[in-house]
Amino acid sequence: MSRDLNVGMGPAGGAATSAASPSSEMLEPGNTLSSWTWPHNARAAVSLSYDDGNPSNLDETIPDLESVGFRGTFYLHVGRRDVQQRAADWRAAHLRGHEMGNHTVRHAGRGEPYIKRDGRLPDWMPLPLERFTPQMIADEVAAAADWLQENIGPDPDRTFAYPCGSVAIGDPPDERSYDAAVLRHHFAARVGDAAVNDPWSLDLLRIASFDGGGNDPAPLIAPCEQALAFGGWTVLGFHTTQRPAHPALLAHLRAGPFWVAPVKTVARYVEAARRMQPG
Ligand SMILES: [Zn+2]
Repeated sequence: MSRDLNVGMGPAGGAATSAASPSSEMLEPGNTLSSWTWPHNARAAVSLSYDDGNPSNLDETIPDLESVGFRGTFYLHVGRRDVQQRAADWRAAHLRGHEMGNHTVRHAGRGEPYIKRDGRLPDWMPLPLERFTPQMIADEVAAAADWLQENIGPDPDRTFAYPCGSVAIGDPPDERSYDAAVLRHHFAARVGDAAVNDPWSLDLLRIASFDGGGNDPAPLIAPCEQALAFGGWTVLGFHTTQRPAHPALLAHLRAGPFWVAPVKTVARYVEAARRMQPG
C-alpha cells in the first residue's frame, strides 16, 4: 500500500497541519507548534484498543502485542464473570504496561436501535441508557472505576470507553450526555465514529475509533495510513482478535513511522502538547 504523505485536512475540520518535517521530540515552551509533532519522530499515532475483556485478549491478543513490544488498551466490562475470574491476569498485564480502561459494570447502551417489533427490548439489554438517571449512570461509572482501582490498581491516566459508543442517557427530547459522570473519574474517553483524530481539535471525551473486526488486515491498516496524511491519531477498536489479521497489522505498524501507544498515553501527550500552544 502506498503512503500518502501529502498535507491533508483533519477530519474535524481542523487546521491543515504538515506532518512532513517533525522537528523535535521535545516540545519547548514558545514552540509555535505550526506542525504537530509526535514522539520519536513518528508521523502518526496509533492506539490499539480491545473492548469488553474477552479472555482471548489475555491468551492471544496480549502475547501478539508483546511479541513486537507494543502495549494496548483493554476496556474491561467489569460486571462480566469471566473478567472478574481473571482479574489477576488483567492486573499482571496492567503491570507490564497495558492500559486497563473503564467500560462500566453493566455495559448499557441505547435500547432504541434494538427494540423489537413487539416494542420490547431483547433479553440481553435489560436496562438501556434511556432509563438511566444522572445518579444511576454516575453510580455505574463509579462502581467500575472502584472495581478497577481495587482489582487492577490505581491509574490516574485510565480512560473510559462508552459502551456501544453511546454517550447519552434519558429519552428524547430529554437526552443528555453523561460526560460529567465520566469526567469525575477519567480525563479522556473513546467512542466509535470511525474517524482519524485531529490532535489540534480533538475533544478528549470523543476520541474516535475504527472497528477492528474481520480477518483481513487491509481495512485495519488503511485508517492507520490515513493518519499519516496529516499527522493524526488513529484508534482501532477490537473485541476479539484474529490471526493472521492482527499480527499482520502489528508487523505493518512496527515497520512504519507510527507511534503505537495506549489511548491514555497518547491522550495525555495531546493534552500536554496543546497546552504549549501560545495564546
Ligand atoms: Zn463493549
